[in-house]
This record gives sequence, structure tokens and C-alpha cells, in this order.
Amino acid sequence: MSFDAATKMQFLYALRSKGVTDARVLTAMEQVDRADYVKGTFAERAYEDMPLPIACGQTISQPSVVGLMTQALQVSPRDKVLEVGTGSGYQAAILSKLARRVYTVDRYRRLVQTARAVFEANDITNITAFTADGSHGLDEQAPFDRILLTAAAEDPPGPLLAQLKPGGIMVLPVGQSDAVQSLIRVRRTDEGLEYDELRSVRFVPLLEGLGQE
Ligand code: SAH
Repeated sequence: MSFDAATKMQFLYALRSKGVTDARVLTAMEQVDRADYVKGTFAERAYEDMPLPIACGQTISQPSVVGLMTQALQVSPRDKVLEVGTGSGYQAAILSKLARRVYTVDRYRRLVQTARAVFEANDITNITAFTADGSHGLDEQAPFDRILLTAAAEDPPGPLLAQLKPGGIMVLPVGQSDAVQSLIRVRRTDEGLEYDELRSVRFVPLLEGLGQE
């Protein structure tokens, strides 16, 4: 599936109109072709601002939400970032354009394998994808400058907070899975943890253990 320049311009315009204004984030989103991360019949809708189904009953998030979350994370070029919820790999690919190194985990092996193949096909070499229950974080690679959850937790998971460096930022949706959730940002400052609420969102729940596929 290939899209023309006008479709991509319109996509970037839609992102800006929904509040994604950070130039580095917009450039990263321009560099990553969302069609690579959406399979089959839905690929032709890759440049619409909506979530779409992927394998294992999961979804690739809405691009404007991806943009707003990435913007809220304030990633710098030297950062080591952890993403929980690889899904299609789209969000990780965007983070890879902004950070030094990205670790991403999903509880479905099948999603991780598919995402790895897309990273390789696109010559993205600074992402490491693992099959793991991300609610425990990734002890071997901790601590992280930035942590992003793309599945909703009832509360910020303790192990992930513990893996955040001083000065670090974590962005995540919190709330019950069947209700409207809040996107929140947690900063680790010298005084402790500082929270701010960004907007309402709707994500799949953060589940325990590994998936069957
Ligand atoms: N960031 C993805 C969208 C993620 S959808 C993208 O860009 O496409 C949320 C993902 O979180 C799903 O793939 C789901 O399997 C995963 N997930 C849910 N609970 C998890 C957990 N405890 N550990 C790791 N991944 C989890």
C-alpha cells in the first residue's frame, strides 16, 4: 500500500489540528509509515485518524493520541525509553526516531515477532522488542529516562515507577478498562513523584501474564 504526498500532508495537518504541535514529534511521525504497521484490508485506512484492529484482538492506537502521548513524554535524543504494549510496533517506531534506545514489550509473542520484522524491514536498529508482562517493567535494562504505557492500568504499576530515573517521565492511561480513562504524566523529581492529568483516553487494559498467541 502506498499513499500520495497529499494524503500524508493531510495526515500531518490533522495531527496539528488535534494539538500535536511539537516539531520533532511531527517529523518523527512523518518518517514512520503507519501503513507498514497495519495489515490486510485495514491498511488502506492507515492515514485516517482512528484506531484500527491488529492481530490478537488488539488495536493500533489513533495517530493523534500517539502524537499527544509522545509529545507529553518529552523524549530527548540521549534517552533510553521503555514502552509497555508493543502492539503493532508503530508507537515504538516513532519513539525510535526521537530517543537513543527503545525497549518495547508485549504479552503476545506473535505481535512482538511481527513488529520485529517490520523494524528490520525499515532498518530500525535501536529498538529491542521482548515478549514479557510489562507490568513488572524490564529489570535488566532499568532504569529508564522515559516510560510509556499504551495499555490502561488501574494505578501506575509500582515496579515501573521504581524503574524511572530521577528526572524521568512516565506517561500512561489510568482507569478501569471499560470506562473512560485519564492519560496522566508522572515525573520523578527530587521531592518525589509529581502527577498531572492530561486528557481522557480509551485504551485496552494492562493484563497480567503472557497471552496465548
Ligand atoms: N502501542 C501499540 C498499541 C498498543 S495496544 C501500537 O503502537 O500499535 C496495547 C497493547 O498492550 C496490546 O498489544 C496488549 O497485548 C499489550 N499489553 C496489555 N497488557 C500488557 C502487559 N502486562 N505487558 C505487556 N503488554 C501488554
